[in-house]
Amino acid sequence: MSAASLDCQDRVARLLDQLTRLARGLQFADGLNPAQWDCLRFISRANAHSRTPGAIATFLGTTKGTASQTIIALEGKGFVRREKDPCDRRICRLVITDAGKTKLENDPLRCVRHAAERLPHGTAEMLADGLEQLVCDLRIRHGCHEFGVCNKCGHFIGSGDKAKATCGLLQESIPQTETNRICVSFKKREPAVELGSD
Ligand code: SF4
Repeated sequence: MSAASLDCQDRVARLLDQLTRLARGLQFADGLNPAQWDCLRFISRANAHSRTPGAIATFLGTTKGTASQTIIALEGKGFVRREKDPCDRRICRLVITDAGKTKLENDPLRCVRHAAERLPHGTAEMLADGLEQLVCDLRIRHGCHEFGVCNKCGHFIGSGDKAKATCGLLQESIPQTETNRICVSFKKREPAVELGSD
């Protein structure tokens, strides 16, 4: 490996560290802390099956107790509320309120997106692809939980007719509004095995 490429990899590690600290610092904003912003974003993007305190703890990478404190703080501020699952009253699902949706319109991480918009198009695309590979590699090496959406999930049973999408794991149909929402039970789809001619 050349000295130049080592230098480049060191720069990637240093810059990502810098960016992470910068992004964290930006999120002590508007009366919330970084974990509360993260939790609010998750609840707004996750499917119903994943909007539970346990799934939120997995997403935040914390204990259930810590996640519960974060949820209680957001409830106290009126940004989320709990709803009993109509099929199983023992399960509580978190729902974002209108005030929570309004709050997210001023998400402090939007400025990162705006900075990315100022990058030349090709650079932004290469950066996104590279970061995706890095996240995937680190997640696999360190056994981190993966969240994803239905149409890339190994449990997804669907056809061209989106109205007939079904989850093989949960054994229930998936409403069209839920197929693009992130899920705690996501399992990466195995690449199709190509059959040889002999
Ligand atoms: S198909 Fe996968 S991502 Fe979709 S609800 Fe089922 S487990 Fe979750």
